[in-house]
Amino acid sequence: MKLEPEIWTAEVVYLGFGTPMLRGGLLVVGEHVAMTGGLEELRHAYPSAPIRAKGKALTPPVVNAHTHLDLWRLPYFRGRYIDFIRHVIAHGSARGVEAARQGLEELQRLGVGAFGDIVARDEVMDWLLGACELPGIAYREVIGPDPSKAGDIFEGLKPRLLAWKKREGRVRVGISPHAPHTVSPPLLQKVAEFARLEGFPVQIHVAESPDEREYLERAQGSFVEFNQQMKIPVWKPPGVSPVQYLADLGVLGSGVTVVHGVQVDENDIRIMAQSGCRVVSCPRSNEGLACGELPWALYLKHGVEVALGTDSRGSSPDLDVKNEALHLWGRLDPRLLVRAATRSGYRVLGLETPRITRGTHLSQVQSW
Ligand SMILES: [Zn+2]
Repeated sequence: MKLEPEIWTAEVVYLGFGTPMLRGGLLVVGEHVAMTGGLEELRHAYPSAPIRAKGKALTPPVVNAHTHLDLWRLPYFRGRYIDFIRHVIAHGSARGVEAARQGLEELQRLGVGAFGDIVARDEVMDWLLGACELPGIAYREVIGPDPSKAGDIFEGLKPRLLAWKKREGRVRVGISPHAPHTVSPPLLQKVAEFARLEGFPVQIHVAESPDEREYLERAQGSFVEFNQQMKIPVWKPPGVSPVQYLADLGVLGSGVTVVHGVQVDENDIRIMAQSGCRVVSCPRSNEGLACGELPWALYLKHGVEVALGTDSRGSSPDLDVKNEALHLWGRLDPRLLVRAATRSGYRVLGLETPRITRGTHLSQVQSW
């Protein structure tokens, strides 16, 4: 049987390189791409081929560059950021390998090409390094607001990180100091220096909620009461923005990915651009936790790469990063969103972006 060619098109067609096309298409024969190009060019070359509209976008597999798989069973929450943190703590027993396994299954079902995961427990890291076939980075979370414990926490973590690094395969090992306000200054510095020397990629939640910024700049807001309740030692906040604070500590650099980066001004973005940081944005989580919107235009102006993530199922209804982009569709240039969901994600994770070319199997083409 001879296979009849079809022309697939979408609002945006992105081949994984070059500029995403607004009137692009793929010539598809059977299960493979036979040709790529502008829609008119393809129609001209194959005038009898039927044209199939495939929705919003045709792209290489998307990347979920920031999630917490082991929070997969956390009930979905909307409300204030600080109450979300209480919600996470209250459901601590729902975490673990079984939840992470369900999260990974969801990513695989969605056809995700790679992922960045924050790992809160050693057994989840052990399991991901042993069982996960999907490429990505598992960042071991570090929390420790008490500066007097920085040395012990760091010395306890170091040998485990080095042992995990030896087991790297498709999943690589990274480190995630949780946030500027939950990791003491000496621990932040130790972890950052170690990550740089040993080549561990880093993700940090930074400038997520307005309350975080208020706490660091003015020592006010909901974090003050929360820290008292949690018996977190009193810490003199630095009086500068979260990004400026991390830059002053020497934490930022090209191996560092800022997660969220919502509550930033242009000076913060300039600092991130100069230090070579990348950003992962989680728009639905930011909206649901009243954290605000990423200043996309400013990031674009300063050439900072922005990828997309869903964050956990606790603050996102699913782990589908396409839905993050579609959430902003019509408000931003769709070519920007398509790139953020693919190429920028691969770059955050240190991976090559798969290309759609002649011969690419359709399993490697996602229609949104
Ligand atoms: Zn997160």
